[in-house]
Amino acid sequence: MSELNLVLLGPPGAGKGTQAERLEEDFHLPYIATGNMLRAAVADGSDLGKQAQEHMKAGRLVPDELIIGLILECVEEDKCRDGFLLDGFPRNTEQAERLDAAMQKLDRRLNAALLIDVPDDEVVRRITGRRVCTKEGHVYHVETNPPKHDGVCDIDGSKLIQRDDDASDVIRERLSVYHEQTEPIVGYYEDRGVLKRFDGTRNPTEVHDHLRATIATLRLEDEI
Ligand code: ADP
Ligand code: ADP
Repeated sequence: MSELNLVLLGPPGAGKGTQAERLEEDFHLPYIATGNMLRAAVADGSDLGKQAQEHMKAGRLVPDELIIGLILECVEEDKCRDGFLLDGFPRNTEQAERLDAAMQKLDRRLNAALLIDVPDDEVVRRITGRRVCTKEGHVYHVETNPPKHDGVCDIDGSKLIQRDDDASDVIRERLSVYHEQTEPIVGYYEDRGVLKRFDGTRNPTEVHDHLRATIATLRLEDEI
């Protein structure tokens, strides 16, 4: 069977997590979300969490040496043998190059970098209203995608909270980090012919339909 090695790209609040939940089900891909992993490490009080916490709270990237090894190990695990869906990694050119090198070593390659694009003012509106569940990170929006019962996750019944770094002053910093450090990898993937763009301002179902159709086509092309 062909592999589906995929990266989700886009500014904070673009809808990467929202779409990943759906794509995970469609294609049965292991979902690796660096933000969720780091937040779990902070909640556990592990060494990684302690080292990452201040950077995350300030809206900066955590240092490469904390994250690159961890994610490459995940990608090399047996469960990712037929593919994976990476969300939140790579976040800069160094991370993108290290991922490519690791894939090459395994005689594999990235099939696509899926860019969900949304302008800054919409990012701010989305993130201000975002609520996430404390158990699995399921995503809601107080206005556009509220839970059935206030403050409670529809899926696992856990409490919904606002992330520390979703405060409005931190959003601006995260956006500037995105434009300065992460956006250059859009060009990096374009040059390698694997970039696919999606209009993230559409409603979640439309974005999902477009993503799903594109990924299904990639899989078919790979099998031919
Ligand atoms: P978003 O919802 O903005 O896309 P994430 O949940 O992916 O955010 O990430 C939250 C925070 O975790 C980031 O602001 C950053 O501090 C840290 N982080 C996540 N992934 C990485 C990474 N690949 N490299 C460095 N820092 C990361
Ligand atoms: P990311 O993982 O890229 O940071 P999320 O999936 O957490 O983004 O979405 C950020 C916020 O925007 C959430 O509150 C979510 O409910 C909302 N959202 C996601 N996709 C859309 C969309 N297509 N249209 C409107 N709101 C959306």
